[in-house]
Amino acid sequence: MTRHLTVSLKDLKERDGLLEVQTGGLSDGSYETGELICLHDEDDEYNVIKALTERVGKTADGCLLKLRKTDVPYYVDGHMHLEYGELSAEYVLQFVGEAVLKGLDEIDILDHTHRFREFRECYDHLRIHQKQDEWLNGKTKFCSTLDEYDELITQIRDMDLPVRVRFGLEVCYTEDTELMLRDVLKDRHYDFLTGAVHSVNHILYDMPFSGELLWERFSADDIYRDYYKAVMACVSSGLFDRLAHPDTIKLFEIYPDYDLTETYRQLARLLKENNMMAENNTGCHYRYHHPDVGLSGQLLAVFKEEGVRIMTASDAHKPEHVGSYIREAAERSRT
Ligand SMILES: [Zn+2]
Ligand SMILES: [Zn+2]
Repeated sequence: MTRHLTVSLKDLKERDGLLEVQTGGLSDGSYETGELICLHDEDDEYNVIKALTERVGKTADGCLLKLRKTDVPYYVDGHMHLEYGELSAEYVLQFVGEAVLKGLDEIDILDHTHRFREFRECYDHLRIHQKQDEWLNGKTKFCSTLDEYDELITQIRDMDLPVRVRFGLEVCYTEDTELMLRDVLKDRHYDFLTGAVHSVNHILYDMPFSGELLWERFSADDIYRDYYKAVMACVSSGLFDRLAHPDTIKLFEIYPDYDLTETYRQLARLLKENNMMAENNTGCHYRYHHPDVGLSGQLLAVFKEEGVRIMTASDAHKPEHVGSYIREAAERSRT
């Protein structure tokens, strides 16, 4: 089983080619040689060194581990949904099983806010169109409560699992609903919150009916300008740790006539200022058949130049999609 430790990577001692880590707490007495350990930096938990335990020395308050660094990257799928299943440990374990098959170290589960009753009012602005109203009345919408989700999280945290499992929410953000969102979220504590923009001026952009309601009615220039305005507001809100699929607005391969480089640069700087990660989300590739495996080369280049931290993500909506194209995305994300 892989273990995860949080340490100060810059303060790690290295002697004779081995890293030394002092663990605290008596429960740590069970370390064994040959174990894989993921060392997460205390300042950035996604800056990770994977190392193999070569020696374990018992000390008064834990273990002194001597570890050999590996070159293997830390593979994380930072975005997947339980949306089409129950909030149950059995269902989560199907995602965990797939993560093991795909060789991942971590999966992050984040159902949409439209699963939870507490957020119902935050979607009323979409009911201006009948098709969106029907979509919101679907059986997977507002069918659970955040307390039920919290119970599941507690249950999973008590289990010894072969991969790290973290829980958050994918929050559908609009400027108009920010106060409502803030109010619901203020008493809730998750491992992370991911902000996502799924609508432009109250119209969803990624639905089968989006052509008729949005793309055929407005110019791509206007749609992109308003989309990125909403994305900037989402980042500036300070509510989120991560930004979901920053350029998924491209899903139908409709592009504006103006150059997006300046917009991308402004977005990158805002992400840095707000200490947020940006997703390199592959969902657009295998769910909507867009040629990019994640972010466009242009946006990725700007993020790298500006030093934005990038999170690989599949946007899996069923267990078998966990880890889809994560290795390719991780390769492209690397600087
Ligand atoms: Zn999304
Ligand atoms: Zn999603």
